[in-house]
Amino acid sequence: MGNKQLFTNARLIDGLADQPLNGMSILVEGERISEVRAGSIDVSSDVEVIDLTGKTVVPGLIDTHIHTVMMDSECFPLFLAAGVTTARDVGGRLDLVLQNREDLNTGKKLGPRLFVCGPLLDGPGASFESPGFTIMLDRVESVDSVPGKIGDLLSAGVDGIKCYFTMTPEIVRAVIGYVDKRVPVTGHLGYCSSMDAIDAGIDGLEHVWISPYNDICALNMRFGNDASMMDPAFWSQTMAGWEQADLKSERMQKWVAAMVEKQVHMGTTLDLLWTAKAGVEGALKDPDRCLIPPAALERQSRMKKRLGDRPDWDIHPGFYETGAGSLALEKHQEVTRQLHEAGGRVVGGTDCGALAYPPPGFALLREIELLAEAIGAMDAIRAVTSVAANYLRADQDIGAVEAGRYADFLVLAEDPLRDVALLRSLETTYRGGMPYDPNRLKAAAPQHSPDGI
Ligand SMILES: [Zn+2]
Repeated sequence: MGNKQLFTNARLIDGLADQPLNGMSILVEGERISEVRAGSIDVSSDVEVIDLTGKTVVPGLIDTHIHTVMMDSECFPLFLAAGVTTARDVGGRLDLVLQNREDLNTGKKLGPRLFVCGPLLDGPGASFESPGFTIMLDRVESVDSVPGKIGDLLSAGVDGIKCYFTMTPEIVRAVIGYVDKRVPVTGHLGYCSSMDAIDAGIDGLEHVWISPYNDICALNMRFGNDASMMDPAFWSQTMAGWEQADLKSERMQKWVAAMVEKQVHMGTTLDLLWTAKAGVEGALKDPDRCLIPPAALERQSRMKKRLGDRPDWDIHPGFYETGAGSLALEKHQEVTRQLHEAGGRVVGGTDCGALAYPPPGFALLREIELLAEAIGAMDAIRAVTSVAANYLRADQDIGAVEAGRYADFLVLAEDPLRDVALLRSLETTYRGGMPYDPNRLKAAAPQHSPDGI
């Protein structure tokens, strides 16, 4: 049965209820929660009792969009340091992500529980060729190659399938049909419109600013089948398209209605435009900046050669100017708000790993702060806990502080409903009933010393 621990007098945000619950007891047996109730629970004297008077408990956070093959495994503990107890890898070479999943899920390496999708699946054309990025990529070149390619991934035991930017509508439809709901299919779409994918039965969309772009932004600004994310003009157009987007339009309402009707999960990745809001100056002072993984920093230093010697080289996204795009970010938040209000399913994701910044784990705290501005603190927390667990089809195991699920939860000194940034008052991360000290994990992670911090 393993160790028993009783947590008492907690203020509990359980990930499910609309309101926090006060004076709660949580009984943990081994790695799972066995009972949650108001008031006390009688236990024998061999049970360790932990009094949480004045503390708030929230479920362990779930980042639904990361790339582990792009970060050093010494950085995996940073997820726990930020309170992220589960993550989903949405693109990386199959053997590598399967190895990471095994290492993390068996506890051989310290970090979050991991779900994996295998590689990003482009269509006939490849979205990128630079060797630093191709480690994430594979292609499904035609409808005929769907059974072989997708069949192999399913046999290997992936937890999801990720359709990527150049996959055509015909191939996306064939993939969704072949998978036939055995695992969730998600898309970072470009050549296939999100409306086509929703109609075909896709389970999730990644990046509120890319996948639904062609369905929301002005028709004369749509990107076509010659679009390349490697082209700087793609990003300036995308930004301009969002700045001009009419979010009261009939097309927007149709998109929201389709997302709600099919209950498609929207992985937002608002954090990628955080520097737009903070401004270069604000981002340069960000203490999380020290935690960029060495491998990501190495890729950034190659970009520095192109960008020139500038103080924000380590956080520069490469394709658009830091500081630009705050209006586009507000539009993405407004799309998120409208979708949520209509009954749609919003989940947080960060893309950490693929881009150097924000860093692993802490990127999700950024994401939650931006989500909370759109949908409020409680629903932002649910977006990265119970709703995300539902997306991963793991509601039996994670996403809420509830009897039967893993004892994955966070003890906070302060109440994040007062200000969601207070998730940073994290004192202890529990994963499967095991306590971890965030400060110690953070101190042990690789760090770099940027100017000005
Ligand atoms: Zn990604």
